[in-house]
Amino acid sequence: MSRAYNFSPGPSTLPESVLHQVRDTLLEYGNAGASIVEISHRGPEFLDIAARAEADLRALLSIPDDYAVLFLPGGATTQQALLPLNFAAPGQRADYVLTGHWGQVATKQARPYVDLNIAASSEAGGYRSIPPASEWRLSADAAYVHVTASETIHGVEFRPAAPGGHPFPDTGDVPLFADFSSSIASEPIDVSRFGAIYAGAQKNLGPVGIGVVIVRRELLERAGQPRADIFDYRLQLAAESMLNTPPTWNWYVAGLTFRWMLDEGGVEVFARRNEAKAKALYAAVDASGGFYRNDVDPAVRSRMNVPFLLSDPALDDAFLARAHDAGLIGLKGHRVVGGMRASIYNAMPLQGVEALVAFMHDFQRRHG
Ligand code: PMP
Repeated sequence: MSRAYNFSPGPSTLPESVLHQVRDTLLEYGNAGASIVEISHRGPEFLDIAARAEADLRALLSIPDDYAVLFLPGGATTQQALLPLNFAAPGQRADYVLTGHWGQVATKQARPYVDLNIAASSEAGGYRSIPPASEWRLSADAAYVHVTASETIHGVEFRPAAPGGHPFPDTGDVPLFADFSSSIASEPIDVSRFGAIYAGAQKNLGPVGIGVVIVRRELLERAGQPRADIFDYRLQLAAESMLNTPPTWNWYVAGLTFRWMLDEGGVEVFARRNEAKAKALYAAVDASGGFYRNDVDPAVRSRMNVPFLLSDPALDDAFLARAHDAGLIGLKGHRVVGGMRASIYNAMPLQGVEALVAFMHDFQRRHG
């Protein structure tokens, strides 16, 4: 059996070389006498893995020293709840900018703890754009401004580096918090522009079950709100993200994925590859004469998640079945928007996208 090209949005495809290393070390890690999932997180083998993972992530994303890095379980959603608990006073204002489903989910996690202000939203237009910064109604006294760097379902992305793309806003003295789950490490970013960056690992960083929080250290001095120790970023940092037993296997595989990205040449290399992949796929959609459609404002189209609709939804099931036969899996769109979605994170090679484009042409020829 051969591996398919997997376009799943998360959990998503991992680099084959990482999977080989995982397989090779599954029975015994080094000379530990056991696999990494079986030995203490406080032993020398795992402490070394944890230290290397942090050093490699710092190198990969050029994380400045005045930023702390946490490796935490609970996914991005848990961080969406912990951010207000750690950084907003009870009932303090917090500004949210909604450009898709996950920004909305973030408001649900924060609402019990803050005076939540929707500073801007593209919901009325079906989340196909990013409201211009001039229209954002930001609060001077907000604890933070929250954005979703890349919306996995709606395929909308802030593009600070792209000509005509939407930059991250300047929020002045109010720190900018960003959910980077879908686009972390996909291109260079200026970490110093953000108060906090968080991401579930299961897209660009490795396996599900662990996430990263990158936070400006001075923000950890904020009192936040009453919370259990386990929800306290400051205590997690003091305990090197091991306040309790961490998800060691997930951390290990994430670390291998960071190393793979560095060995491939780092985020500049992935930025070029991702641009080429996205360009090829959007070109196929746009050149299909309406057979395939993506309605997102081209300036903010995501390079990571490409949602597209077939003009005749009655063909959806056939598209998915034939794609599966062609070795292309994970293409079913999220139920919120329907249609198809191809997630093309760092570990998806250009050949995978080329195979999908060829399949799309062929499917259209048969059914168009
Ligand atoms: N934010 C974004 C942008 C996502 O894509 C997802 C998951 N797809 C989440 C948050 C939620 O992540 P988790 O399932 O890790 O809590």
